This record gives sequence, C-alpha cells and structure tokens, in this order.
Amino acid sequence: MHAHQSWGRYPRAEHTHVVPVLWRSDPPALSEVSGKLLPFAYGRSYGDSCLNAGGALLDVSGLRRFISFDEARGVLRCEAGVTLAEVLALIVPRGWFVPVVPGTKRVSVAGAIANDVHGKNHHRAGTFGAHVTCFELLRSTGERLLCSPERNVELFRATIGGLGLTGLILWAEFRLKRIPGARITMDRIRFSCLSEFYQLSRDDQEYEYTVAWIDCLARGRALGRGLFLRGDHVAGAGRAQPGDGPAISVPVDLPSGLIGRAATRCFNTLYYHAQLRNRQRRTLFYEPFFFPLDGVGAWNRLYGENGFLQYQCVTGEDSESAVVDLLEQVARSGETPALAVLKRFGRIPSPGMLSFPRPGVTLAIDFAMRGSSTLKLLDRLDRIVAQAGGAVYPAKDARMSGPSFQRFFPNWQSFASQIDPKFSSSFWRRVSAA
Ligand SMILES: Cc1cc2nc3c(=O)[nH]c(=O)nc-3n(C[C@H](O)[C@H](O)[C@H](O)COP(=O)(O)OP(=O)(O)OC[C@H]3O[C@@H](n4cnc5c(N)ncnc54)[C@H](O)[C@@H]3O)c2cc1C
Repeated sequence: MHAHQSWGRYPRAEHTHVVPVLWRSDPPALSEVSGKLLPFAYGRSYGDSCLNAGGALLDVSGLRRFISFDEARGVLRCEAGVTLAEVLALIVPRGWFVPVVPGTKRVSVAGAIANDVHGKNHHRAGTFGAHVTCFELLRSTGERLLCSPERNVELFRATIGGLGLTGLILWAEFRLKRIPGARITMDRIRFSCLSEFYQLSRDDQEYEYTVAWIDCLARGRALGRGLFLRGDHVAGAGRAQPGDGPAISVPVDLPSGLIGRAATRCFNTLYYHAQLRNRQRRTLFYEPFFFPLDGVGAWNRLYGENGFLQYQCVTGEDSESAVVDLLEQVARSGETPALAVLKRFGRIPSPGMLSFPRPGVTLAIDFAMRGSSTLKLLDRLDRIVAQAGGAVYPAKDARMSGPSFQRFFPNWQSFASQIDPKFSSSFWRRVSAA
C-alpha cells in the first residue's frame, strides 16, 4: 500500500484506519467499519477531496483486474483501481484509446469517474463520465447496485463527479475511442496576449486536443502570453522514439531553489522564447503529449514540506475580462505561481450532478503554500469567479468556503440526498457546513 495523502500534500490528514479492498466478489462489510468512510485510490487529487481526517479510508488500489475487453466494439470493463496507464498499455497497441484522459495517467478508473475528469478534448468529447456505460456501486448497507443511464439513474448521475461520497465503485465499464496509431501530430503556437489565446481557441473544433501554457507573471500588454498546443492522433509507432521529448517540459526544467518568484519569472521568459519560430509542428508519441508531468516522479515534492495548492476555475463563455482580472490579481500578488494552464471547455453537458466542467475557459495555476497570504489570494480569486458565474474544481481544492462551493454548485443539496450516510470526506464536511 502507498502513502495516503493528496497530491498537493496540503492539508495533511490523520486517518483512524485504512481498509484494503481486494476482492470485488468479497468486499469488506462496510457497516462494521467504525467511523465515516471514504474510498481512496492513488491520491492524485490535489487537496482534501480524497482525505477523510478522523475517519477511515477504503483503499481500492488492490482492485486491479481487467474483467472484459470487447475489442471489436471498443468497450472495456475493469475493477475500480485499474489505472489509466494500465488501460492504455492494453488498448493502444490494439488501436484504441481512452476517450478522455487527464494530465496524468496514474489515476484509477474510479477516481476518473468520481471527479468526472476532463482532458484536452473536452470541446469534442465532454468528460470521462460521458463515456461510462455502467458500474457497480457498493453501499454501506451491503447493497450492490448496478448503475447506468437506464438503471438507478439518480445514483449513476450522483456518483459521476460525486467525490466518492455515494458508495464504493467496485468495477466500471466504459467506451473507448478508435485511433490510427500511437502518435500525435502537434502544433505549438506562441501567442503574445490573452486575446490571442481566445482567437486561437475559437478554432478548437478543428482539432481533437487543445491546451495552452501561460506565463502568469507577465503583465501589461503581455498579460496572458503563452504557448498554445493542439494535436490529433496520427498513424505511427507504438513506442517512444528518439526525439520524443515532453510536449511541455516545465516541471522538468524548473529552476532549482524552487519555487522563488524571480526564478519562476526567469524560467517563464526563457520558456516562452525557447522556440525560435512562432509556430512549430512535430509528431510525437502520445505519452509526452498527454502526460508531460509523469516524466518526473513525485514532482509534487519540489514544493517542500508545506506543499502546494492548485487553483482551477472555469469562467463563463464570454469571460475574457474575468480571466484578465484573475491574472492581474495573481501577477500583482506576492505569491509564486509556478505552472499555469488555460483551456476552453466545450458545450457537451456532463452527466454528473456535481461535475465541474461547463462552457467557458478554465484556468489552472499551481501555488506554493505560503500560509494565509496564499489563502487570501485564492479567496479573492473565488470572488472574481463567482461574479463571472463560474466554479472552482473540487478535485484540486483544499480551501474554498462552504458559501463559495454552494454558489458554484447550486444543486449540491439534491446531490447530498444521494450520499451514503456512512460516507464523508474532509472536503465535504468543510463545504457543506452551514
Ligand atoms: C499531474 C496531474 C494532472 C491532472 N490533470 C487533470 C486534468 O487534466 N483533468 C482533470 O479533470 N483532473 C486532473 N487531475 C486530477 C485527477 O485526475 C483527479 O483528481 C483523479 O480523480 C485522481 O484519481 P485517483 O485515482 O488518484 O483518485 P483519488 O485522488 O485517490 O480519489 C479521487 C476521488 O475518487 C474517489 N474514489 C476513488 N476510488 C473510488 C471508488 N472505488 N469508488 C468511489 N469513489 C472512489 C475518492 O473518494 C475521491 O473522492 C490531475 C492530477 C494530477 C496529479
């Protein structure tokens, strides 16, 4: 078993015990475990949505078996703790891909459902949950429910994006996507300000994958400058080739003596100017394109003992002025934003009641945790997001207030009625408080 903390290593939580779940046919009797319960897979959530301070965790990393793979139709069924890395290793050589992948492949299938994760193709494919055909949910009463868009529909919708609170997913089935090969053709385009990003992302529909890296210390006319990446699957070898470097190598190259503001500013400037031409095209293996951060083991430790926070929000479709406000607040603060990503979400609705993605632009920024000054800045950002009718992503959060959460997710109370009474999390106790 592995350490039970979240990716940002903030906050730290003490759990009373950790119950391993090893057999889907013979799961632990949940009613006999004392205290509140929360499933835990690989802790790739950044904040406290995968933590349950003072309660127990149900560790599903032992539920690691494939159940069936219909290679003709592209439908896969596997246990909850199977990772997307394991799924990709099985299916890519056979001409299939996971329909939606987050920025790391080291997440479980159940974690991808519980946070209804999105990827660089949200504008084309929606969220992971949109591709789930069914799963089996164990409730603390011992009941095992098959949930799908046709059966136990409310629980199906509550569990997708349901933060592990509706019960324990034992296995899940989802649809795959056909690909011509294991390589991606990628354009990398430099843009000099935020409105150029908005222009570039208007052509999103022509590309399967789009995302941008931005220099969030740039100010004035350079505010929001960065590199826009777009890509499509193409035929080609199933393995990394010489020259397949990471698509974005930010964490690999981050200056030592992390994560000082001056060093980050210097790095961002170098990175922004690193490519000579404004537009570059190359073909590369899919892994460095989708998972550049996976190339560096445990990079979260670069932030030291105090950990870090990722702030990810989405603002409405015509949100340029809100994004300008957010970036100005960040650039003006004394905080140290390290990695920042911008992406336009599409309009495909998420099946989950509490799913985060909605039409608009999403901004994600990592901040070293420096105590109350960092927390105060993030509260200021929350107010801008609320004004713009947006939301903050629970999978990345460790600090938003109850009123903010309730405003970002107005149907939280109908979701709450589907929660298993024996399940809870540190995140949920904080945001559902009056
Ligand atoms: C480098 C990096 C990049 C990322 N990029 C993205 C991205 O692009 N898009 C995105 O959406 N997210 C992204 N994430 C976040 C990550 O995809 C999610 O937090 C994901 O849910 C983590 O999965 P996990 O298996 O580690 O689950 P954990 O973090 O352990 O748990 C996540 C949630 O799933 C619940 N859960 C786990 N197992 C079960 C189960 N069997 N039954 C019911 N509930 C369960 C837990 O209770 C918890 O609420 C990124 C994270 C990292 C570290």
